[in-house]
Amino acid sequence: MSSTPINKPSALQADKTAATMSSNLPEDISLSKWEDSGFEWSGQVAPRSFERLNAILSTEHEQSNLELKANLYRHNNVLHLSFTFTGEIWLTCQRCLQPIAIDLTDDYDIALLDNESQVRLVGEEQDYLLLDEIITEPAPERLLPFKKLIEDEILLKAPMAPKHDDCEMSVEQFGDIPEEEENENPFAALASLKDKL
Ligand SMILES: [Zn+2]
Repeated sequence: MSSTPINKPSALQADKTAATMSSNLPEDISLSKWEDSGFEWSGQVAPRSFERLNAILSTEHEQSNLELKANLYRHNNVLHLSFTFTGEIWLTCQRCLQPIAIDLTDDYDIALLDNESQVRLVGEEQDYLLLDEIITEPAPERLLPFKKLIEDEILLKAPMAPKHDDCEMSVEQFGDIPEEEENENPFAALASLKDKL
């Protein structure tokens, strides 16, 4: 690698990209920078890009991208992270060991409290987290672990022991797909091509 600092994107450009583009889910959101103006992110997320989730995903079924729309905003002086998922993940049925689809489509909203005294500012039904507990290293800037929080919610939503309502019917449905041909599948080839574009 040559050292040509002129060609490197400036920190300013990188931040702008994170706010407006939808290519990669940011690991963190700088609260020092965004907590007053708010922050929005939308785009497609590959289930396998979440490390802890990946460990429980079925390897017998293709995982489609999830649509994610996220919004960091303030309400009643309390910071909130809300997001909407559209899509499903494939886990393994704990009864027949065949893939099972888990729908993640839902709206999620977490209040991010500065301290315990803010609990009274949010409704009883409101999920909340204490910022002090999720931001472990507040210096040099307070980084909200955006990707981790979203993965936590997926893991909460995913059942610990997923099971088909009717295993036999589900197995018959999958029985027609020859496993050996999976790599030759024209749709899989197309999908991987799309990923490269
Ligand atoms: Zn089953």
